[in-house]
Amino acid sequence: MQYRCHHTTLTRRSLLGGGTALACGCVMLSGCAANPATGKQSLLGLSSINDDIRTGTKAYPEVIAAFGGAYNQDRLQSYVTSIGRKIVVNTELPDLPYEFTVLNSPIINAFALPGGKIALTRGLMALASSEAEIAGVLAHEAGHVNARHAAQGQTRSTITNIGLAVLGIATGSRELVNLGQSVAGTLLQKYSRNQELEADSLGVRYLTRTGYDPAAMASMLGSMREQSQVEAEMQGLPPGAVDEFNIMASHPRTIERVRDATAEAAGVTVANPLVGRAEYLDAINGLMFADDPDQGLVRGQRFLHRSLGFSFEVPAGFQLRNSPENVIAQARGGGTIVFDMAPVQRARNLIEYLQYEWAADVPLDNLENIRVNGFAAATGAARLQSQQSVSDVRLVAYDAGRGQVYRFLFLTPPQSTRSLAPGLRDTTYSFRRLTEADTANLRPLRVIVAPVRAGDTVDSLAASLPFDRFNAAWFRVLNDLQPGQELTVGDTVKIVTS
Ligand SMILES: [Zn+2]
Repeated sequence: MQYRCHHTTLTRRSLLGGGTALACGCVMLSGCAANPATGKQSLLGLSSINDDIRTGTKAYPEVIAAFGGAYNQDRLQSYVTSIGRKIVVNTELPDLPYEFTVLNSPIINAFALPGGKIALTRGLMALASSEAEIAGVLAHEAGHVNARHAAQGQTRSTITNIGLAVLGIATGSRELVNLGQSVAGTLLQKYSRNQELEADSLGVRYLTRTGYDPAAMASMLGSMREQSQVEAEMQGLPPGAVDEFNIMASHPRTIERVRDATAEAAGVTVANPLVGRAEYLDAINGLMFADDPDQGLVRGQRFLHRSLGFSFEVPAGFQLRNSPENVIAQARGGGTIVFDMAPVQRARNLIEYLQYEWAADVPLDNLENIRVNGFAAATGAARLQSQQSVSDVRLVAYDAGRGQVYRFLFLTPPQSTRSLAPGLRDTTYSFRRLTEADTANLRPLRVIVAPVRAGDTVDSLAASLPFDRFNAAWFRVLNDLQPGQELTVGDTVKIVTS
């Protein structure tokens, strides 16, 4: 969770920037230009490239903020920019105002805005093992830019997170609906399956022209697939689920992309292809891994936020997830906890805040003031009914000072409300300020590049990862080790430690 004074919500419209107008403009031209990257007749006039640039440039800072902000390390930022520059001079639109940003986010993702603004997460950088792999990611994103996919109007704003959709519908709160339709939601859903395949194939083209090993595209996709597999296991999904049901629903199945990219790479030969493993590992040595303590850390059932200085604990069985907007914990058998921070507009006290601001459209019962570890707080509950479902909601707001509140929203299916209530009550009362000792212990994890020494094993080197019984699987993914593959003394590996 990030501290922000006001919500920056970006609408889908501002991202796409008047797609309909562009199509009309095209009809008025005497003919439609062929897209230089794809060779396809485009419905978009050439003048609209300026619209792409305007749209992308305007949205870039907001999107960067929505993904945790830029990662504050100049050497890494300029390294990535230098790789990106080498790639884009070999694209069909080399003169766009390209920009490259490493985001301070542990999730594994990359995206491109129309007009050449490209970003990738530090989570993705930790996963990659060579300069060619990162070049592959940037080349893929440059493919979306050059093929002008975002301007084709196929963008969908499907709400991926079912939990959030349910919340929004249930409470009728605009704020919660916005959350599901936030930048993150729309961007990750942005491209169709064919657009993804096209970007992969353009990516292989640009990698080849730049002199990078084109096989890096497939190896990067392979690492991403293996990581999703571990992630799926951690979420309790059956093995192989990633191939059947992709987390990013509109993306083509990763396994298919790996196959296509490999086939494409096999057909091209690059003399002395550049891989750049040593250079890359040197550049990411010390890279922050997993959550940034200043954006909040998940430690088992606890959530701790270093810069805001608080912590709370969720009941056993709830899985915590942190994002720039909020912290969500879900229990498999039903039950959702959403924690966030919000400004108070006009309310003169917390009861008024609950009644007239947060739950303005929902009549609340059992409103009461409470005190929690020195914090003034208030709570209220309601039964919510929509056409599809009935759920119970309990709201808690704590006075955070400076016109802000910390908030819990507990959502339970009516048949489980009674059994979940004691645990959720404990969560309410677990909210407290961090002590100095707590704060001193909250150091971020970092990727350290080191040679394997005699006696090291996968298990011993994986022990400092934060994923408990999935540590060894994560270590293998980070280091491209097959199941059962042993370490070789002297080889360089990525170790995660605090
Ligand atoms: Zn893509």
